[in-house]
Amino acid sequence: AGTLYVVATPIGNLEDISARALRVLTEVSLIAAEDTRHSQRLLQHFGISTPLQACHEHNERDQGGRFIARLLAGDDVALISDAGTPLISDPGFHLVRQARVAGVRVVPVPGACALVAALSAAGLPSDRFIFEGFLPAKAAARCARLESIKEEPRTLIFYEAPHRLLESLRDMGKIFGADRLAVLGRELTKTFETLKGLPLGELSDWVAADANQQRGECVLLVAGWQAPEGESAVTAEALRVLDLLLEDLP
Ligand code: SAM
Repeated sequence: AGTLYVVATPIGNLEDISARALRVLTEVSLIAAEDTRHSQRLLQHFGISTPLQACHEHNERDQGGRFIARLLAGDDVALISDAGTPLISDPGFHLVRQARVAGVRVVPVPGACALVAALSAAGLPSDRFIFEGFLPAKAAARCARLESIKEEPRTLIFYEAPHRLLESLRDMGKIFGADRLAVLGRELTKTFETLKGLPLGELSDWVAADANQQRGECVLLVAGWQAPEGESAVTAEALRVLDLLLEDLP
């Protein structure tokens, strides 16, 4: 059988494509792409003429079989998304799973990924972190999600759409506290790359004051929760329960 290569492409700066990615994309029989027109431009830029076929979230489950059939027939296939690493807030999971179930070899060809790029330059603890992807678009669901992770001690990483950035920052300020340190990574690897670190309250104000900060692509990183001095093992929830229990004591 052939091999399924999962190939990362740039998140803005085309110089970030790897030599190996270019070779693999040239040598495979077929490229499964999230948006064939978008990827056609990337391939043209690098003089690659490998045929493209759509593999996006709407057809991935159904069309997966076609790619698996080609792989089982001995063809090598590369999977790419519009930007960065496939499967990371991008299509590909179903195809990769189907390929592995079918016994096809799956090979990663690593490269750009916005969350790793942001974390590598943010200056927040990077030894342990959690990636939350995109928050829910509706305010109530978004706040519920934020509530569920407000005492998460690891660095938090989110992807956010530019038109929701300010709303999300304000909700984070309310739920995590205005003093919690955050870093906005915007337009990474591109001309207007910005990395701005401020407490959540100040970061919201800074973004609100400059419409340019509400354009382009962004990653938000938030410092993990830190137990207040002397309370390291006691969560706010435990304290609340303790208060309730104490009320009932004679
Ligand atoms: N697969 C991609 C990756 O490896 O990072 C992510 C795809 S996801 C659909 C797109 C989101 O990633 C954007 O909304 C933004 O949150 C983030 N992103 C992608 N490129 C970025 C960049 N150059 N700067 C900042 N964030 C970026």
